[in-house]
Amino acid sequence: MQKKKQLYEGKAKKVYETDNPDLLIQEFKDDATAFDATKRGTIKTKGIINNKISKILFELLESKGIETHFVKQLDDRHMLIKRVEIIPLEVTMRNTVAGGMAKLLGIEEGLKLKEPVLEYHYKDDSLHDPLINNYHAKALKLVTDEELDFIEKKSFEINNILKAFFDRKDLDLIDFKLEFGRHKGKILLADEISPDTCRFWDKKTREKLDKDRFRRDLGRIEEAYQEVLRRVTS
Ligand code: UDP
Repeated sequence: MQKKKQLYEGKAKKVYETDNPDLLIQEFKDDATAFDATKRGTIKTKGIINNKISKILFELLESKGIETHFVKQLDDRHMLIKRVEIIPLEVTMRNTVAGGMAKLLGIEEGLKLKEPVLEYHYKDDSLHDPLINNYHAKALKLVTDEELDFIEKKSFEINNILKAFFDRKDLDLIDFKLEFGRHKGKILLADEISPDTCRFWDKKTREKLDKDRFRRDLGRIEEAYQEVLRRVTS
């Protein structure tokens, strides 16, 4: 499958058309941004690692009955995906308090939540992806009632599957972000699942093995991404 016209360039990925109008190619870049792209950098080989990790996690989720946009990996930096209309809603699932939730509520990072917390953020960089609730999402017609019920149910299922998987790899899945899209009347899990979009802490040492190493200048960034890949494939 050949790349045709570039459709879109985001902060970490590019998307291209193919000969088939239903299929697109997603390219993973090494570029990293944080804090609304005010902090920029490159993480060497990140694109290759995130492509591999996303492939493995999409395949895992598909095997457990979650439909995704993933079709197949094409090479180091490219995956073939189904064309979806992205729903402008970022779904954040949290198992342990960190990042935005710690700041919003003045809670120390690391508090284990009694039950997972699902958050919606309106996907709009110029507004800094503001936190909204299910009523905003429906009243603003970002999604229908039926779509939102489906997204919520799937997000909790995805959390259960991923939490159990990473637990076996001695990684604590702290939180992560999901995006969904519409494809031929169905809602598919889209985007990527990687150390760019999840927080992983080593179960024993509590060492951060994700993009927080870049956001917070913790060093050994490439090594952390490599380590997650190593554990995911072990
Ligand atoms: N996240 C993401 N993209 C975003 C914002 C957050 O992938 O634009 C991920 C982030 O890596 C973390 C989770 O979503 O795993 C929760 O992030 P949070 O809301 O705490 O925001 P942050 O602290 O990253 O600003």
